[in-house]
Amino acid sequence: VHRNGGEDEFHQAVCEVLETLGPVLDAHPEYLESGVIERLVEPERQIVFRVPWVDDDGRVQVSRGFRTEFSSTLGPYKGGLRFHPSVDAGIVKFLGFEQVLKNALTGLPIGGGKGGSDVDLRGRSDGEVMRFCQSFMTELHRHVGEHTDVPAGDQGVSAREIGFLFGQYKRITNRFEPGVLTGKGLDWGGSRVRTEATGYGLAYFVREVLAAHDTSFDGKRVVVSGAGNVALYAIEKVHQLGGTVVAVSDSSGFVVDDDGIDLELLREVKGGRGGQVTDYADQRDGATAGDGSIWQVPCDVALPCATQNELSDKDAAALVENGCRVVAEGANMPTTPEAVDLLREAGVLFAPGKASNAGGVATSAFEMQQNAARESWTADDVDGRLETVMSDIHARCLETAEAYGSPGDYVAGANIAGFRKVADAMLAQGVV
Ligand code: NDP
Repeated sequence: VHRNGGEDEFHQAVCEVLETLGPVLDAHPEYLESGVIERLVEPERQIVFRVPWVDDDGRVQVSRGFRTEFSSTLGPYKGGLRFHPSVDAGIVKFLGFEQVLKNALTGLPIGGGKGGSDVDLRGRSDGEVMRFCQSFMTELHRHVGEHTDVPAGDQGVSAREIGFLFGQYKRITNRFEPGVLTGKGLDWGGSRVRTEATGYGLAYFVREVLAAHDTSFDGKRVVVSGAGNVALYAIEKVHQLGGTVVAVSDSSGFVVDDDGIDLELLREVKGGRGGQVTDYADQRDGATAGDGSIWQVPCDVALPCATQNELSDKDAAALVENGCRVVAEGANMPTTPEAVDLLREAGVLFAPGKASNAGGVATSAFEMQQNAARESWTADDVDGRLETVMSDIHARCLETAEAYGSPGDYVAGANIAGFRKVADAMLAQGVV
């Protein structure tokens, strides 16, 4: 513990994985003999840097930048950048660790990494955001590249920020190298369906879970937390697949709308930066602003899509009490370990983020493929590939869980399948 002091989320993520690896380590002692576990929990490289920038009042602000290049065993480091005041070394490290196994699970040739900054850009002008991004990339450009490390967006980093980061990279290096970042605009190397991919992929994954239990989204009440990129597209796809999203949240609270969330209105409310989901209730007949936790709203399917550790054991107990059948993570590690245990013991079908939210990074890998081939695939093509990847991940989880003695357990299946893929490649590549 002393080696990674203060990195609580990292410890949590590692424990959750190691707890499930017993059967695979018993069956393959060579993993232990060659130090695979010790190497897997130690990032290949961690970069921490100063990001000085000037705000609109002419004051110098100093933020901290991070990039954890966790594993290049299966391909270039790949994972998003998060700009949020809660970002620190432990958060970036837990996200990077999860990313390694998630990326392996997609079956695509990508390693794992994550980065970001503790900057708070909410309410900042476009000029301030641009100056921050330029300063961030002035350091980051030394470490990234098509064959080395390919960042994308995450919380607080969407098309606008990726644009500013890409512009600065191009200026410093004098290279138009689209493969250096994913989540780009469509006119300059982006992929269709990348913006939608995590939310859509989550809905596709849940469709598979339901189908494996002889049911579907039809008539199901769904609760989605968050009202950002992942949540909005999850809502859109759930509605297309026949479910009804009856509650959403953001950092200001949550709203309940039994008729089904009006996505257009929600987008309008959240559109202006700083817009609050609770304003939705004022503008929609029958909708009410909720009190307490969103997880107390009765539902069949719960999709936590906001942030880490947002669904506690108390929340899990309320979900079980109200008859919820499926919890699938859209965010990274939104469910606390105690809540996960409680849900699984109660027989709720629980899909961990490294399986159910992998659609975003899979589509980022498709963006890299299009960039390398100088192609631009149609939306139907990308969406079809996304559906295939999600259904393959679902099948891989179930097959692996069955093979290692925990039939139907998505957590064990996802962890073991991702681990085996990385571990086998590590053995083949020697002690590096
Ligand atoms: P965004 O920044 O677009 O959205 C996050 C949303 O969550 C915002 O609406 C925010 O509220 C809300 N939120 C934050 N904290 C809380 C809280 N404690 N309670 C309720 N709501 C909260 O981020 P993304 O949608 O991109 O990412 C969400 C999660 O999904 C993260 O864990 C991310 O790592 C994960 N993820 C994202 C991927 C992607 O492709 N974007 C890929 C895979 C995983 P407000 O609007 O008030 O700020």
